[in-house]
Amino acid sequence: MTTNNQPTPRTQVKRLPERGAYDHETIYSILDQAFLCHVGFVADGQPFVIPTGYGRAEDTLYIHGSTASRMLRSLEKSIPVCVTVTLLDGLVLARSAFHHSMNYRSVVILGSATVVAEREEKLRALRAVSEQIIPGRWDYVRQPSEQELKATIVLALPLAEASAKIRTGPPHDEAEDYALEIWAGVLPLHTVVEEPATDPELRVAVPCPAHVRSYLAPGRR
Ligand SMILES: Cc1cc2nc3c(=O)[nH]c(=O)nc-3n(C[C@H](O)[C@H](O)[C@H](O)COP(=O)(O)OP(=O)(O)OC[C@H]3O[C@@H](n4cnc5c(N)ncnc54)[C@H](O)[C@@H]3O)c2cc1C
Repeated sequence: MTTNNQPTPRTQVKRLPERGAYDHETIYSILDQAFLCHVGFVADGQPFVIPTGYGRAEDTLYIHGSTASRMLRSLEKSIPVCVTVTLLDGLVLARSAFHHSMNYRSVVILGSATVVAEREEKLRALRAVSEQIIPGRWDYVRQPSEQELKATIVLALPLAEASAKIRTGPPHDEAEDYALEIWAGVLPLHTVVEEPATDPELRVAVPCPAHVRSYLAPGRR
């Protein structure tokens, strides 16, 4: 992703390039529908891909965690990182085994992260992560203590080099296979929000707040 919406040599989608997109609007709309990412990095010569939560604020992706986390301690050294976000929309069931696929919206971000040290920015970043996961929660809960802030690393990854890839629609079968009597189509998939389960330790009858009751699942926002 660059200002003219063109890929860099590293973010050019090679297979089925027509499914690639590099503009802010497409990339941010996918990022804003999700809150889970996979963070890929190399530590001591070994690649790791670690799932974690994130928040986007303008042109920055924030991730956070314990000061004891190997992922965060590695990334704070500004090493190369690859972050992916995936929304799975359906299974694409073709007439042939070969042409089975998935419908999805995904983003790949390349770059290196920096530590967010300044207190106010750190709080803004933590709010962004919290609001991405469950909007309305941050203002409802007790705010972090100085000790809790100290125990948390926050990293900022610029959304400067990124790509999106999107697949939609029915299967694409071989011309001769359309004559086969084999069911084909798309099995849509999405995350379902169930009834909230109240903590049995709740001291008084606290009503379930609106931000929990009206929660929208990732991919459905
Ligand atoms: C849910 C899901 C299931 C998939 N299943 C398969 C599968 O079973 N087999 C398979 O071969 N492929 C699968 N893909 C597609 C896969 O992610 C790659 O797009 C594919 O391997 C082709 O990559 P490439 O060789 O064109 O690009 P690469 O050379 O691997 O990548 C070049 C650049 O293209 C961009 N890019 C590549 N893929 C994506 C992506 N998905 N989203 C955003 N940017 C991307 C990145 O910036 C990357 O740096 C799946 C994708 C998703 C989201």
